[in-house]
Amino acid sequence: MPGSAPTITLLLGDITEQHAEAVVNAANSSLLGGGGVDGAIHRRGGPAILAACRELRASHYGGGLPTGHAVATTAGNLPARWVIHTVGPVYAVREDRSALLADCHRNALAVADDLGAESVAFPAISTGVYGWPLDSAARIALSTVRGTETSVRQIRFVLFDVRALAAFEQAGAELGIEISRQ
Ligand code: ADP
Repeated sequence: MPGSAPTITLLLGDITEQHAEAVVNAANSSLLGGGGVDGAIHRRGGPAILAACRELRASHYGGGLPTGHAVATTAGNLPARWVIHTVGPVYAVREDRSALLADCHRNALAVADDLGAESVAFPAISTGVYGWPLDSAARIALSTVRGTETSVRQIRFVLFDVRALAAFEQAGAELGIEISRQ
């Protein structure tokens, strides 16, 4: 039974340098690597992550990982135990895909619960090449993790630049979510 709510921390940094039990990858559905967070994780984590992703493609996820779903692999050489891969939605002006972005966060925490991970670091999913406006993504990310029952004790959002950090800080303030800064 989950007890008190996990702490939520915001920090400026690189997801590949996080000493968290699990780090979340903003993957694409192929699971075979890409740019941004995905590229950095595979570069720094080494070939063990790609090998595990290839196995997933050969077994459970022959058609790729669907948007909003999450799955774990080894973290290879990263200073984490696991990478939780999740596929964010591509932002669309004409269609509200917010529920899928919320699913990414909820399902990543569910995978972390299955692993028994107590600390999880998230990047700002979908806000890079997938084009999601930062302020909206920040609100969805923070409200979803705050609203999800989880055994994870520490949730960290690792923001790559000051603009992303400011967006998350503002979203936290607007939503009245208690946040620590690091
Ligand atoms: P998506 O395809 O889901 O949009 P991206 O990887 O392109 O994912 O970008 C997601 C966010 O992660 C962007 O805000 C980008 O600036 C940021 N980012 C890129 N590299 C890193 C990194 N090494 N650590 C943390 N955040 C990163």
